[in-house]
Amino acid sequence: MDFYMSTRLITGNNCILNNAEMFSEMGQRCLIVTGKSSAKRCGALGDVTEALGRVGIGYSIYDEIVQNPTIASCIEAGKLAKGYGADFIIGIGGGSPLDAAKIVAVCAANPKTEEDDLYARKWIKDALPVLLIGTTAGTGSEVTPVSVLTDSRGRKRSIRDERIYAKISFGDPRYTETLPRKFVLSTAVDALAHCIESYFSKKANDISAAFALRGAAILRETLGSVLQSNTKLDSDQRERLYNASILGGLAISVTGTTFPHNMGYFLSEDYGVAHGNACAVYLPELLRYAEKCAPERISSFFAAIGGDIDCLIDLIERITPKLDIILTEEDIKRLMPRWENNSSVASTVGNVTADMIEKILRDKFCK
Ligand code: NAP
Ligand code: FE
Repeated sequence: MDFYMSTRLITGNNCILNNAEMFSEMGQRCLIVTGKSSAKRCGALGDVTEALGRVGIGYSIYDEIVQNPTIASCIEAGKLAKGYGADFIIGIGGGSPLDAAKIVAVCAANPKTEEDDLYARKWIKDALPVLLIGTTAGTGSEVTPVSVLTDSRGRKRSIRDERIYAKISFGDPRYTETLPRKFVLSTAVDALAHCIESYFSKKANDISAAFALRGAAILRETLGSVLQSNTKLDSDQRERLYNASILGGLAISVTGTTFPHNMGYFLSEDYGVAHGNACAVYLPELLRYAEKCAPERISSFFAAIGGDIDCLIDLIERITPKLDIILTEEDIKRLMPRWENNSSVASTVGNVTADMIEKILRDKFCK
């Protein structure tokens, strides 16, 4: 096994203000990277600026990060950070601002590095240190060495590099109180996808499996109760979902994701489907496939998380909205080359062939 995770992770209510002195270890000035409004609305930005004020750190804010963030916005924010003389970057948000902050930190240290070199991980100077504050319980980006960014052709592509781990991540589950229910569900099902995909990856080992199984067990139990009531989540449910998202992030830090994530990207790019829903739509196929080609793994999975395959698929189908998408023959022809020699697809247990992918697409979207 080879396990490396260099992020200090602190979670719990009020964890930012309780640890304000940690910000001063990072430098004197920072750029804060956020989306349009949620960082303010959920209280995280207020806590961060108060903590920075207490320890006398200057800041500037870049709040232009959109869902499925673009690499162009990271290059732009990197130049602003450099111009401002930032010593470190703070990302506040769901996966989109967190992923962006990691590459803003690279661009701030390497402002002339262009898109292709960023994806090829060819940068010279070390990235600025990064501090992340999660406001969704989903991606686990707080603890992954991954940034998923949309390129100039509109395609979502990952940059995976140990040098982009955050130095410190804070997770205060109270921030998810303002998250609309549709995002509570789409982000939680993303975390579930991370746990399931990691467990049924050829790259899984005992460490990743421990994270994946615990995360999946928490999610199965908690999402069952969340779906049964229409009321707001209580603080215990929030904390459980947040912790499960971190466990999912740790699991995919070891294994990466498999075919559901990769087949989900076009649904976000072309049809605006929320990331978690776009990936989870293929989880039933992954589980049924694993049942055939890795029955022992399926048994150990359900022995550890409880329930059975039918109940879990039913839960996933109740969480994810029906997608009203129809693909034509041309769409299928255009899409299929994406999955040729694709390393995420190849790391799924068994042997996922092009025929299998085409059949899944046809069954789901060509009726
Ligand atoms: P997101 O795209 O960061 O945010 C979705 C929406 O939720 C935005 O409108 C955002 O508003 C809002 N929001 C976030 N936190 C909120 C809060 N506490 N209260 C109210 N609204 C809130 O969603 P996400 O699902 O967390 O991230 C998805 C991205 O992460 C995708 O691009 C995906 O590819 C990536 N991802 C990365 C990894 C990794 O390992 N790095 C893993 C999985 C997925 P604002 O725009 O105003 O902020
Ligand atoms: Fe994901």
